[in-house]
Amino acid sequence: MAREMRAGHRCYNTSPRAPILAAPAAPHSTRWTTIVMHPWLAQRTAQFDSSGIRKVFDLAAKLKNPINLSIGQPDFPVPQEIKTAAIDAIQGDRNGYSQTQGIGELREQLQTRIDAEYGHDDRKVLVTSGTSGALVMAMLAMIDPGDEVIFFDPYFVMYPALVGMVGGRAVTIDTYPDFQIDVDKVAAAITPRTKMIVLNSPANPTGVVAGEEQVKALAELAAQHNIALLSDEIYRTFCYDAPLPSPAAHNPDTIVVDGFSKSYGVTGWRVGWVHGPAAIIDKLTALQQYTFVCSPHPLQWGALAALDVDMTAQVATYSDRRNTIVAGLRDAGYEVAPTGGAFYVFPKVPDGQGTAGEFVARAIENELLIIPGNIFSARDTHFRISYAASEETLARGLDVLSRLRG
Ligand code: PMP
Repeated sequence: MAREMRAGHRCYNTSPRAPILAAPAAPHSTRWTTIVMHPWLAQRTAQFDSSGIRKVFDLAAKLKNPINLSIGQPDFPVPQEIKTAAIDAIQGDRNGYSQTQGIGELREQLQTRIDAEYGHDDRKVLVTSGTSGALVMAMLAMIDPGDEVIFFDPYFVMYPALVGMVGGRAVTIDTYPDFQIDVDKVAAAITPRTKMIVLNSPANPTGVVAGEEQVKALAELAAQHNIALLSDEIYRTFCYDAPLPSPAAHNPDTIVVDGFSKSYGVTGWRVGWVHGPAAIIDKLTALQQYTFVCSPHPLQWGALAALDVDMTAQVATYSDRRNTIVAGLRDAGYEVAPTGGAFYVFPKVPDGQGTAGEFVARAIENELLIIPGNIFSARDTHFRISYAASEETLARGLDVLSRLRG
């Protein structure tokens, strides 16, 4: 028999495979979802499900010649010297565990770059199992049950899931329509339970780069309230109009997560890093020892080689594609906020065309794969396009979107 609880509170399932009512991952939703929970599953697993995005990928699998603008990873080939370094590491029998904190050579190079950029006395780096690994460990290490974590809506899908997993409470700040952060809104959302603010710039899913002034004000606000500020800078390389304003430049206690996945097209390698105050990084290192153990060892050698590879040409190509897609969408009559980074745009569904879910269903009927906004947001009014795709695919996608606009 299922016992019903209020959304956001604990859920009990009292018999094997009983359907229970559980709060969906989205922090703002009051909708109930019925999910079948195996009795062995922990209550925390009721906090998240990935059915929305899976639905899009399931539909994609059925299409013969899909125009795929849904993928969150670069389409350029991994530069040969990076591949060679990883292959050499495997051939050279560097296949055992590495040190928990990452191979010394990689850590030293990252540390040198970080020190040169920020010059903080107490800033230390740890090589992680992707940026995701760093995010998981930061939440586990810093968020107690009931702690509040502020982040911006639209958000990267992992944030509400991870906050829920550790028993925290997600507090979202709406950033529509321009997706810039409003620091006054953040200040108003701070309570005695606020433990962390998460900033992601350039952002997934909007591609928006937070402005220098806002980033500085946010960094100062976090310092003033003694709240942890976690900056997810995984798209830092893909910053087209100016270098990325990082809150770490204004708040020496900022925890920064970053990774090789997107910058070098190695999403499958699972190599990232986190840097921040030494006491936090030491605790994350201990946590890594008992969880991920280390980032894949031979691939850390590939990552080390990547640090010497110039990706300017690839980034320039993506900048051109950003211009093409934004101009194409605006010509077709779509409303698109100015975007300065990552490889996403987040246009609004035209008035009279229903929800983003309905609009995306029509796009998929036309072989175009895009992601509805409610995967990333309380609202279902926008859709995500990834322009990590060939010019030809982008042109085909724009063609379908023009037709759908009518
Ligand atoms: N943060 C953001 C904002 C992302 O978009 C992603 C990947 N989609 C990640 C973190 C995780 O990246 P990684 O492959 O390094 O785990």
